[in-house]
Amino acid sequence: MPSSGYDLIVAGAGPSGVALLDALARVGLGDLRVLLVDRAPRRGDDRTWCFWETDAGPFDHLVAHRWPALDVHGPSAGAPGRRLELAPYSYKMIRGGDFFAATDAWLAGRPQVERRVGEVQEVRSEGDRAVAVIDGERVEADWAFDATRVPLEPVAGYHLLLQHFLGWEITTPDDRFDPGVATFMDFRVPQKGGTCFVYVLPTSPREALVEHTVFSPSVWPRAAYEAELRGYLAGVLGIGSYEVGRTEIGVIPMTDRPFPARRGDRVITIGTAGGQTKASTGYTFRRVVRHARALAEALAHTGKPHLPARWRRHDWMDGVLLRALATGRQDGAEFFSRLLERNPPARVLAFLDEDTSIAQEVALMASVDVPLFWRVGAEVTWRRWRARRDARMRV
Ligand SMILES: Cc1cc2nc3c(=O)[nH]c(=O)nc-3n(C[C@H](O)[C@H](O)[C@H](O)COP(=O)(O)OP(=O)(O)OC[C@H]3O[C@@H](n4cnc5c(N)ncnc54)[C@H](O)[C@@H]3O)c2cc1C
Repeated sequence: MPSSGYDLIVAGAGPSGVALLDALARVGLGDLRVLLVDRAPRRGDDRTWCFWETDAGPFDHLVAHRWPALDVHGPSAGAPGRRLELAPYSYKMIRGGDFFAATDAWLAGRPQVERRVGEVQEVRSEGDRAVAVIDGERVEADWAFDATRVPLEPVAGYHLLLQHFLGWEITTPDDRFDPGVATFMDFRVPQKGGTCFVYVLPTSPREALVEHTVFSPSVWPRAAYEAELRGYLAGVLGIGSYEVGRTEIGVIPMTDRPFPARRGDRVITIGTAGGQTKASTGYTFRRVVRHARALAEALAHTGKPHLPARWRRHDWMDGVLLRALATGRQDGAEFFSRLLERNPPARVLAFLDEDTSIAQEVALMASVDVPLFWRVGAEVTWRRWRARRDARMRV
């Protein structure tokens, strides 16, 4: 295919790039000629995506396990914790290995999608064309979708925390888990320099992914997460004997900085690089899928994959929480455990999905330190206003 003969370039064959191709096929645009480029020849089983939803998403056939209920434990050792019955939601898990095996096979049967292994050096708009520079070669298309550039440099007036974690898939010699209930956030671990908690995702009575997670400004050495996991398994769950299988390690940026939805007219940013990671939780997978559907529908109906820009109060609320956590004025373990323990589970999940009404958000706020959040909210508003003013003055 000539290097200018594509309708679309998709830079990055992660879930956001693949979900976009899936969404395009679902809206009847499966015949578009696509160049899908990634520096990695193949993505492996390096991550597990968990998310909640009420309906069957487009990748429901790949869900390895689903839980109708989640447990939450606050930081104090004697606290009983709370079981959250999730209906109408369920908490779902897709393994990266299953996702890429299935989607690679699907893509292999689509001759209109050309896959290329290469380094994407730039993706830009040039008039009414999208241009990508791949291994020094210029490639053109009508549109480009870019998941490859996650902007992480600090932006004045905004905040950045890292969600960093290490998980073990463990197998125990006897039945230790209830595969019908996952532990969403267990704060009964030392709170060291950030918000620390553990997920327990059991897939059978003897198998679980147990993940120690931290929200803080910088990552830990690997041995530190491992020590915390050993301490949690023995000290909190009373599990002394287990085998460790696959290990999962990762860092997810949690930032309220603005992410440009487009670079010029022709380049649309997607995935974490397009601001689809929820700043206050790090959850991304379902947002990526929703974003892909919205972009595909816009292209199908208007001829342009452009979504209307809108002010979202949830972005502001994420900024308030990040600032409260980053400045140490809100204890993260206390905030999340209170939010989860004192509100109807479906309302909290809808809130984290940005699907709540203002009235529901006001009800949720009753479980947090309202005066603190209003003070921090005023600071966030002022800092953003000042950052935008300074940026205008520099132009
Ligand atoms: C270990 C781990 C576990 C996670 N678990 C969850 C979870 O449970 N739930 C959830 O919602 N989210 C989770 N996330 C967050 C998020 O869902 C993932 O990071 C997800 O993979 C983001 O998808 P993406 O397509 O935006 O980016 P990526 O998956 O990072 O894909 C980007 C692709 O672009 C390629 N690329 C990058 N730069 C270049 C370049 N210059 N040239 C060519 N190719 C390039 C990369 O090789 C990669 O394949 C997790 C993240 C990690 C790291």
